[in-house]
Amino acid sequence: MLKLAPRTAVSVRELFAVTVTRNPTIRRIHEEQIAAMLRMLPISLIVNLLNSVLLSWAVWDQVSHLQLGLWLVAVVVFCVMRAVRLLRLRQAHSDLVPASHRRIVLLSALMGCIWLAPPLLWFSQLDAPEQMVTGILLAGMMCGGSITLAVVPLAAIAYILVLAGGALVIGDVLGSPHLMAMTLIFATALCAGAINTARLFVGHVKAQLELVDSSAMIELLRELGSSGSEWLWELAPDLTVRHMSAPLMKALDRSPEQLIGMHAVALLDPQNRVAEVSEGMRTLIECLRGECLFRDIAIPARDGRAWWSLSGKPLYDADGRLVGWRGVGSDITASRLSGANSVTAARHDVLTGLANRLLIRELLEEALLLGQRGRGNCALMLVDLDRFKLVNDTLGHSVGDELLCEVARRLSSLTPDVRVGRLGGDEFALVLTGYDTAEELAKLAETTIIALSAPYRVGQSELNIGATIGIAQAPVDGPTQEELIRSADLALYSAKKAGRGSFRFFAAWMAQQAAENRALESDLRSALKHGELSLAYQPIVHARSHKVIAREALLRWNHPVRGDVPPDVFVPVIEDAGLIGQVGNWVLREACREAAGWPDGARVAVNVSSAQLAAGPALVGHVIQALAASGLEAERLEIEVTESIFLANDVTTRTTLGQLRAIGVRLVLDDFGMGYASFSCLTNGEFSKIKIDRSFTVAAAQPGRPPERSIVESILTLARGLQIEVTAEGIETPEQAALMVALGCGQLQGYLFGRPAAPIPRPQPSACATVTIRVPRTTHRAA
Ligand code: C2E
Ligand code: MG
Ligand code: MG
Repeated sequence: MLKLAPRTAVSVRELFAVTVTRNPTIRRIHEEQIAAMLRMLPISLIVNLLNSVLLSWAVWDQVSHLQLGLWLVAVVVFCVMRAVRLLRLRQAHSDLVPASHRRIVLLSALMGCIWLAPPLLWFSQLDAPEQMVTGILLAGMMCGGSITLAVVPLAAIAYILVLAGGALVIGDVLGSPHLMAMTLIFATALCAGAINTARLFVGHVKAQLELVDSSAMIELLRELGSSGSEWLWELAPDLTVRHMSAPLMKALDRSPEQLIGMHAVALLDPQNRVAEVSEGMRTLIECLRGECLFRDIAIPARDGRAWWSLSGKPLYDADGRLVGWRGVGSDITASRLSGANSVTAARHDVLTGLANRLLIRELLEEALLLGQRGRGNCALMLVDLDRFKLVNDTLGHSVGDELLCEVARRLSSLTPDVRVGRLGGDEFALVLTGYDTAEELAKLAETTIIALSAPYRVGQSELNIGATIGIAQAPVDGPTQEELIRSADLALYSAKKAGRGSFRFFAAWMAQQAAENRALESDLRSALKHGELSLAYQPIVHARSHKVIAREALLRWNHPVRGDVPPDVFVPVIEDAGLIGQVGNWVLREACREAAGWPDGARVAVNVSSAQLAAGPALVGHVIQALAASGLEAERLEIEVTESIFLANDVTTRTTLGQLRAIGVRLVLDDFGMGYASFSCLTNGEFSKIKIDRSFTVAAAQPGRPPERSIVESILTLARGLQIEVTAEGIETPEQAALMVALGCGQLQGYLFGRPAAPIPRPQPSACATVTIRVPRTTHRAA
């Protein structure tokens, strides 16, 4: 069987308040009480008039006509005044609220006083039948008043008590204590009845108001799509609070008098400190000021101790004028962290169950707010897995997923003071609060790297990955979560560049460098548009004959303001900007086109970065197109890759190298000896040549540097054994050249034999010329 909803509770204040109030519920109750009284007023006035006439008729012969006449006039004047007032009020209903409520009580008491005249003035002069008429009339009036005035209980009580006073006088006149006692009992019962009726009435009004709130909420929920909301709020166009549902007021722990009329921003962020930290708060304020609808904006409330989700929409009148705001909200403090609802789901990573980026941002905001009030330090560690892509590429995504789950488990069990999250891919975040020193953070970073680098057993395979970490501390490295994440990101980037498996704290120079790189990137984009990039060619010669065997194409950028920018500086920026594919393609086409016109048939060497190799098929396609467009034989193209490509140990890179080899292009291992590659990467016959890094050739020629010389010797021995050509880079002096020749190096490259130089423009065949003269091009202008 369906049960009725529990009766709405009514407070003493709601029942008896007569003063002007800002409390919207009490104002609405007053309005409804007055409206109910107005409905009863005509009957009440008619009853009063009829009763006064009947009484006058009954006692006409026994009392002073003057007194009776005056009394009758008083009753009629009172009733007429009330009737006139009623008519006026019906025309302007809103004038009633709230001043007339107290007046109702006074007027009811006054009406009671008018009815006191018969018992006080005439009762003792009347015969027994008329005394009875007066007594019954008084009792009837008391009953009637308790019914017609019941919705305003104080009015009813005032009226009943005054009339009860009259009844007591009658009892006294009759010398009947029984009558007096009965009067008291009767009056008490009537007052109690009136209070009960009022309580039911007020409860009913409140229930209706709640109903209005819930239907407005249902409508809003449907419109805004924010499920699980439990609060309703309304703002005036100037963003002051107009209405709030009771649960929201309770959550704010303030009375309606304090809340109504308060500016919403001052209410949520009194010291403007939350907006400094919270992205949600900033978005909310922007939406309110910009009059745009918002959904499920999460904001820290009560100094970061609670989290609320708010949705709202601006309301407009028929002329398109803003008339206010209406919205819903709920407390998501607990449901944000756990539960089986949409709030939890939106904040957790499906695979690992860890906090996702949204929750990490919120946790950081919370920690920053607590930090503002001196409740502990806050730091962020970004953890990036090394060689995870290799696992994913070689063993498949399901193994990769299992590995990520195990990483999540290891991170979660590190220390209880840490909130762990997964930001996406193989990037994790640790939000730390309550640590004391940077040393503690460093120790935790070390422990984390060790924990994550221990072997993993997934199915049949044992997997080994590593981790690199960037650390940022609040508020020095970032007073907001965005800045803190950015700083930790820069620290991570720097750690990755420095060599994986390490950690770095954020430092100011990282941000400066990032800004510099951003400026460089935008200049580069315009350089690409305006053709400011060019290629210079540096000869690679036969060690003994010094005949040019090949020329290395080297990128040059002549910046209108900065001048010549070294490729070591701008190539990484091109890579980070994701432009390396486009630029690399241009280099390939240009170098092949240029080499196709060399009469000495020298090869052309083109540098290709690891990012290009990782792009796989695109690079192979570009090479094929460049060769086809220029007509250059594949054998004359050398692709120089650095040892760093072996760092990632990427499957795509390996495949791409194989495909390039298959189309007949020669592969060259550049900067050999810098430490990344092992000799084993040379044994599968992919590489046709290695280039000994300049640092070795320079050092080997210096007196007292036998280790470098031994390294060069062993590289040459290995290359001979594998039948791989060797070029010694950076030869600047005849001594260096002589040493390399003596050690058995076949090819030399360096300033001694030619600096990188711009190609000399070839004369275009003229339209009328019959014989084409080719300029032999063994020399180049220095670039
Ligand atoms: P790399 O491939 O090892 O190029 C050789 C570098 O050594 C060139 O520097 C060259 O100018 C310099 N060099 C040659 N001989 C000598 C010498 O005798 N003494 C000294 N001090 N230096 C010498 P550059 O042109 O500044 O290029 C630097 C690096 O930039 C290159 O190193 C290469 O890794 C990269 N790079 C250049 N062009 C490209 C390109 O088109 N694509 C890619 N991905 N990287 C490029
Ligand atoms: Mg090179
Ligand atoms: Mg090199």
